Amino acid sequence: MNIILLGPPGAGKGTQARRLVAERGMVQLSTGDMLREARTSGTEMGKRVAAVMDSGALVTDEIVIGLIAEKLEGDTGGGIIFDGFPRTLAQADALSDLLGEKNTELATVIEMQVDDDALVARITARSTCADCGEVYNDNTKPIPADGKCSNCGSDKITRRADDNEDSLKTRLLAYYKQTSPLIGYYYAKGLLTDVDGLAEMDDVAAEIKKKLDTV
Ligand code: ADP
Ligand code: ZN
Repeated sequence: MNIILLGPPGAGKGTQARRLVAERGMVQLSTGDMLREARTSGTEMGKRVAAVMDSGALVTDEIVIGLIAEKLEGDTGGGIIFDGFPRTLAQADALSDLLGEKNTELATVIEMQVDDDALVARITARSTCADCGEVYNDNTKPIPADGKCSNCGSDKITRRADDNEDSLKTRLLAYYKQTSPLIGYYYAKGLLTDVDGLAEMDDVAAEIKKKLDTV
């Protein structure tokens, strides 16, 4: 079963995707993680997109579609969770073509609804493990006292360069302008469903599980 988690930055897509990986053996494809990996490993493409990412704007469709196409050639196990992709209508069309070539399709698109104030509060309090992607929050899930990631033991827990108020403004604008049209697009295809992203993490997970059990 292939699904999309759709929602603004800070909606909790990554957190929920990681749970689905652990609980259902699904594969998480996060273009944000792929792009950050490209930056850390210093590839040409990584260097090219760094400034765009830090500003909070979207990188080109061509680059992210290329990244996804490459991953879809590999083993996609118990289904794919698309996290942070697609973010434009062109990406959504490309995804539909790519899945068609694999003789598969989307089962559902889950929109995670959250209001802007909550997003700003979450993101400005957020830290992320650079090695495994585990997410910490100053208020709700502080970094362990020894500074080591509780998931993988890494000591590289950092604030993302784009988790600041300026970049966040640009990211939210990009979401409303370029990504939110996908809500109508998938509604028209009969694939859209939504969950309350403001609920407790476990309750959001339960709601998503319920949705997945009925598709
Ligand atoms: P967020 O917390 O904003 O959802 P992500 O980790 O998904 O962050 O993405 C971080 C940045 O990577 C985005 O602001 C954008 O610059 C770039 N990016 C990630 N996915 C895409 C995509 N599908 N299309 C264009 N740019 C992307
Ligand atoms: Zn970690």
